Amino acid sequence: MSQVRVRFAPSPTGPLHIGGVRTALYNYLFAKKHGGTFILRIEDTDQTRYVPGSEDYIMQSLEWFGLVPEEGPGYGGDFGPYRQSERKDIYGKYATELVEKGHAYYCFDTSEDLAKMRADMADKGVHSAKYNYLTRGQMKNSLSLSKSETESLLDKGENITIRLKIPQDRTILIQDEVRGEVAFESNELDDKIILKGDGMPTYHMANIIDDHLMEITHVIRGEEWLPSTAHHVLMYEMFGWTPPSFSHLPLILKPTGKGKLSKRDGAKFGFPVFPLEWLDKDENVTYQGFKEDGYLPEAVVNFISLLGWNPGNDKERFSMEELIQAFDLSRIVKSGARFDVDKVRWFNQQYIISTPNSVLADMIAMTVREHGYDVSEDFLIKFVELMKERVEVLPEFFSAGGFFFKMPEEIEEKMARKKYKIENRPHFDALNSSMEDMQQFTSSALESTIKGYIADHELSFGAIMPILRLGVCGTMKGPDLFETMELIGQDEVIRRMKSSLDKFTAIKNAQNA
Ligand code: GLU
Repeated sequence: MSQVRVRFAPSPTGPLHIGGVRTALYNYLFAKKHGGTFILRIEDTDQTRYVPGSEDYIMQSLEWFGLVPEEGPGYGGDFGPYRQSERKDIYGKYATELVEKGHAYYCFDTSEDLAKMRADMADKGVHSAKYNYLTRGQMKNSLSLSKSETESLLDKGENITIRLKIPQDRTILIQDEVRGEVAFESNELDDKIILKGDGMPTYHMANIIDDHLMEITHVIRGEEWLPSTAHHVLMYEMFGWTPPSFSHLPLILKPTGKGKLSKRDGAKFGFPVFPLEWLDKDENVTYQGFKEDGYLPEAVVNFISLLGWNPGNDKERFSMEELIQAFDLSRIVKSGARFDVDKVRWFNQQYIISTPNSVLADMIAMTVREHGYDVSEDFLIKFVELMKERVEVLPEFFSAGGFFFKMPEEIEEKMARKKYKIENRPHFDALNSSMEDMQQFTSSALESTIKGYIADHELSFGAIMPILRLGVCGTMKGPDLFETMELIGQDEVIRRMKSSLDKFTAIKNAQNA
């Protein structure tokens, strides 16, 4: 294989969707696997769809996932500029070349002319008529007009576009690495505009010229571009260039498996579809990203890698290095890949569990401070160690483990009503005194003191332990109680127990009243 060069070519029309991240990831993995180059090209020729901020967003997202381009705007490279708006001067001559070779032609139609053509065709029973071999003869273009008429319209300089002249009666075969041979009939294709009135190329034109000039060897992109590939392949032929190899990735489907995943599905099903937070100014809505929702980039990469690619065995956990080794275009699946919310959370949990405690502590330290808690690094390290198996996303350290920092205001009263017996109050008071007397407030000392007391007084665990947990944590859910008590600390545990016991007694009295 010649030196592999692949590109991720997003249009800066909004935030990068998770489907775009997957395209970038597969390009990256393929490049790395073959010692090739991963290029970022910004396809911003459609100025009407340009959304400020999206280009930066795309780059920040790629970097968050570790998918750093070797060439691209701001990344250097010998094939720049990598922003198509900065390459405007390059495209014109190629469009003219196609006109000169008879593969493209000038058009002077107004939008009214186009509407009239469609209406006329509809009258003849042809609905959604195209600008093509059937209609081009009746339109205002350099094929239908005389040379002198054409020249005078070109001099006038209004409404000039260049369209591809799609050959008639051809079957265009595309060898797709994912789908095998795909055939398109040329009579079904329209004479696409390649150069617009403002001198800007359209996507199709700019895309193939840049792929050629940037020496792209493999085009790996979403399935929605497969129909355009017929036009692209024809253009390569018209220029006499060798096309790159094509791989079209399957759609990412909604969690229900029905239909393409959309940005609104995130809110609907409770997961992010964007890597980072994005403020949609038109809708005045902020979409949370995977980052803000507490996902680790490695976990998301691992999850996304399997959305449309199958390693050929049962292995699920892959580091980036392992993905690079294992990735193979021939294992990309043809059918749509369902976005499974539980699966992405599961991956994240696995990655949280295997992240060193000190690293996790660093990750949440800022949020701890923002909550107004002042705890030591050692405390945080122990805290994440106790909680990490119980959380799937980082914010759950606080929603599920907030009691380590502060006694919750709401306690699980139902549990108190069920488990607390007023006649046991003297035992709890005695346990409190024993805890007050402890020299070393460690989990093992707590265990022997509390279990010893239960045994000495022939009590049941069920009468004592739940109330201790509820009294100290406010909830029945949490890690090992003795370890929890040790971390919360002697004074705080005793203070909490005293105040909880008063609350439990009041609850019971109210119940009995
Ligand atoms: N600019 C296109 C997009 O936004 C790129 C398609 C391609 O990779 O050719 O997805």
